Amino acid sequence: MATWAPHSWTNAEARQLPIYPDAAALDDATRRLASFPPLVFAGEARNLTADLAKVAEGKAFLLQGGDCAESFAEFHPNNIRDTFRVILQMAVVLTFASKLPVVKVGRMAGQFAKPRSANTETIDGVELPSYRGDNVNDIAFTAESRVPDPERMIRSYAQSAATLNLLRAFAQGGYANLHQVHRWTHDFMGRSPWAKKYAETADRIGEALDFMEACGISPDTVPQLSQTTFYTSHEALLLPFEEALTRQDSLTGDWYDTSAHFLWIGDRTRFEGSSHVEFLRGIGNPIGVKCGPSLDPDALLRMLDTLNPQRVPGRMTLITRYGYDQIEAHLPRLVRAVKREGHPVVWSCDPMHGNTVKATSGYKTRPFERILSEVRGFFAVHRAEGTHAGGIHAEMTGQNVTECTGGAIDVTEQSLADRYHTHCDPRLNAGQSLELAFLLAEMLNT
Ligand code: PEP
Ligand code: MN
Repeated sequence: MATWAPHSWTNAEARQLPIYPDAAALDDATRRLASFPPLVFAGEARNLTADLAKVAEGKAFLLQGGDCAESFAEFHPNNIRDTFRVILQMAVVLTFASKLPVVKVGRMAGQFAKPRSANTETIDGVELPSYRGDNVNDIAFTAESRVPDPERMIRSYAQSAATLNLLRAFAQGGYANLHQVHRWTHDFMGRSPWAKKYAETADRIGEALDFMEACGISPDTVPQLSQTTFYTSHEALLLPFEEALTRQDSLTGDWYDTSAHFLWIGDRTRFEGSSHVEFLRGIGNPIGVKCGPSLDPDALLRMLDTLNPQRVPGRMTLITRYGYDQIEAHLPRLVRAVKREGHPVVWSCDPMHGNTVKATSGYKTRPFERILSEVRGFFAVHRAEGTHAGGIHAEMTGQNVTECTGGAIDVTEQSLADRYHTHCDPRLNAGQSLELAFLLAEMLNT
């Protein structure tokens, strides 16, 4: 295979990248980015690879979640805190149910760029370029807003740095105290209609914590109970940005994309000969690939050989996203091929992207029942094939939004308009996310 360099992607076919009208401005912005400090350290990315190797082996579970698209408008400490908090709450429930460590990865601190199914959007007869994420252009429907502006990359770098700084403080500074996290879940359950259904699990977690406390195992004595490890991730879509943040590790000499710990390739950019595959092949970070219905097993095996020729356990996560009615038809073929060839991978389920529908009111939504149904199908396939259902990848927020229909506090098609805030795809709200964790707990237990 040809030698790799951070810019070698420019010789391959790039889809979904903006065309910047001012090449000099792009050059200036990426030059400045290349001089900025890395957001993560290569050693942290290697730690995540080691954690994911345990998931691939069946000895841990992966929980990845956050916004579909972070935005400049929703940048607020409370949003960061609330999403972090729900991910921790979900992790506690999942750890208890699976009796496995849960590897926590946020779609946070850099998840800005969006692939789009169409290059343009037409409203009332007016056609404009599509919105491609806040690091590319502006969501407002005017010709001026939709022009790609490279200065937006600088702003997203700054927002990512501040977000990551707060996440690190929360993870290490005492906010992630296990007793506290469980107390939030308890308070939340007290107010919700599903309290009864999930009370037994929640009570058992509480009892386990009380028992440990009585034995002298408390957050004051055991750091694992007061601190946690939280990693960041995003789709490595905007390659000029990713290239500028790609640095050579002084310890190993290897290249790492220091914009996040984990990067993934989307379903629309994972085709053979893609610039995105070429870029990700050369970085040392653990990487993900979204696998949708158009991916056939042979193409997947060729991609695994390209992206992980050394077969490093923990390097590859396959994030399947078929749709509730397609998963059982497609997933077994991929699982068998990967198993037959002996590639060590993490299998993770994205139950969001294959289940998007348009409500009669015009809003894009995802029925909670279909999301659960895809997760059930994912577990059923892995059980039948003897492989580890390793993780879940969800678009979610800690806010009480109304974007996905269903759930215990029923969001109806009529109520979607109440708090529909997403800049791209519909997310699970805090209640729906926690409910998903409790239902996952049931599946992990059976
Ligand atoms: C996403 O994760 O936001 C996304 C666009 O997913 P996919 O590439 O699977 O469509
Ligand atoms: Mn999305």
